[in-house]
Amino acid sequence: MSAPISASQPFPMHVSVAEAHEMLAALLPDLETETVSVSQALGRTLAADLSALVSHPSATESALDGIAAREADTLTASAEAPVRLKIVGESRAGMPFDGRVGVGECVRIYTGAPLPEGADAICPVEQLADEESADDGPAHVHLLRPASPADVRPEGGDFRAGETVMRAGLRLSAPRVALAVSLGHARLPVRRKLRVALLSTGDEVIEPGLPLQAGQVYDSNRVGLSAMLNESGCEVIELGHAPDSPASLQAVIAGAGGADVLLSSGGVSMGKYDFMRDLLIERGRVAFWKVRMRPGGPAILGGWNGLPVFGLPGNPVSSLVVFHVIVRPALTGQPVQSLKLRAATPFRGLKDKTAFWRGVIKDGEVGDYGPQGSGILRSLSDADALVIVPEGGAVQVGDVVDVVLL
Ligand code: AMP
Ligand code: MG
Repeated sequence: MSAPISASQPFPMHVSVAEAHEMLAALLPDLETETVSVSQALGRTLAADLSALVSHPSATESALDGIAAREADTLTASAEAPVRLKIVGESRAGMPFDGRVGVGECVRIYTGAPLPEGADAICPVEQLADEESADDGPAHVHLLRPASPADVRPEGGDFRAGETVMRAGLRLSAPRVALAVSLGHARLPVRRKLRVALLSTGDEVIEPGLPLQAGQVYDSNRVGLSAMLNESGCEVIELGHAPDSPASLQAVIAGAGGADVLLSSGGVSMGKYDFMRDLLIERGRVAFWKVRMRPGGPAILGGWNGLPVFGLPGNPVSSLVVFHVIVRPALTGQPVQSLKLRAATPFRGLKDKTAFWRGVIKDGEVGDYGPQGSGILRSLSDADALVIVPEGGAVQVGDVVDVVLL
């Protein structure tokens, strides 16, 4: 195969990070809907709007442990002049008081227990002083402050039956799965998982656990990328590893049947043995080659026999950073979440590349992690965030920067 091609080739080169993301997203299929149990739904994408099947709370209830009373009876209560109420019963979660609270009366009540008829306010147990009760006389309690309606949770105060609470397209985080359950759902419509075939390349790349000869490197990318794909809610088709030969590469890729997209690492840069690049450019299809970013510049997007292929660079930091800022947002449909922090150190800028420097967050500011080489995996493992320095920009101490949490 020939040497790397020049910029006169008939496909875009040096695209922006945003363009790379858009072009990758455009090659991914629309995913069909399937129904899964709520316990299987974590990390999936909701395929339809969800309405509440029930109201929550399902009855007007107490937010605290204490007593339920009539607010009007208690307005003058204070530590100096407590208000004395007669205890006429108890309301427990799941076991309501079935009487009515009259003037000068209250019932003991616990968190989540239904508010009895007649009562409209709660006084927490911390603001009560119990009275020694005469042997068989009624028990009384002293309120050190007024009972408050704010500690009553109204029926349907969180949501009402019939209300649309969750929208299609939402990614199901743990709190969202929990919310879906409280809406009354046991099974959820979700998009099927995207099937991603994963492959690493390189004659020097070997399986974890084997003895390492000088010049070899353990296949950290495949394990790291597989973990990130799983975290992103994808189904991973493990293709293993291919040595640097066009024939082996083709043979391994042939195992990607049924995949929606192939993700590879290595072999896409400027070297003579970067055959992933040659395969796409000379025999496949190319959507773009090279992204204006560091690390991660050599990434290539294309297709092979109808299968979309995204070739990540082999350098471990490069491949994982490209995953963070381009691949994951495209696969999940969720934009990169960034936040703004003040810089504790300067960060250099690059003339025509967006830089993603590893940073450490301390006291609410972000500082330079240290070594930023694209082979230094510790910089990703030890850093807290990627600090984004736009093309042509530079960051001085005290500037506000965009960061992506790692
Ligand atoms: P390449 O992009 O194939 O030129 O590889 C660039 C650098 O990344 C080289 O130092 C490779 O040894 C290293 N590398 C490539 N693939 C992997 C991998 N799967 N795991 C760890 N390092 C790798
Ligand atoms: Mg290589």
